[in-house]
Amino acid sequence: MPQGRTHLAFELGTLPGWVALGVVLHVGRTSLVFFTGAYVMASLFLSPDLDLAKSDASRRWRGARFLWRPYAAFFRHRGISHSPLLGPLTRILYLAVLGAALWAILHMVVDVPFPQVVPWESALPVLAGLYLPHLLHVALDRTVSLGKRFILHRG
Ligand SMILES: [Zn+2]
Repeated sequence: MPQGRTHLAFELGTLPGWVALGVVLHVGRTSLVFFTGAYVMASLFLSPDLDLAKSDASRRWRGARFLWRPYAAFFRHRGISHSPLLGPLTRILYLAVLGAALWAILHMVVDVPFPQVVPWESALPVLAGLYLPHLLHVALDRTVSLGKRFILHRG
């Protein structure tokens, strides 16, 4: 399997190309900013390899890495967490559940209103920024696995 830093280098290394493609396709500046922010955040902190007990991505969460232990325990490595469509969704929903739990705890202590403002106009570029590094990760995983299988069968 490629190491975490290989994935990160591949994902962040292709980001200028994706942004350039966005410029060529006349994607608005605000959308590109949302896309880039989500892409970098997803590359650094929302890797599919959070399904491992220890990974570069979980280490980047530093003191909060314990938050991903239930995720790693629940999701088998390279299972649904690496599914092209469902993988990012599992992590988005997992974070939503954590966020709701945090809000509920805060709400018991102080009267914190539930966040009402969802910038829907940024949803598409944010989703693209969350999904694209995931798809690159899965493609790299599969390519390396395929290459290893090919080499083993030849040898
Ligand atoms: Zn992986």
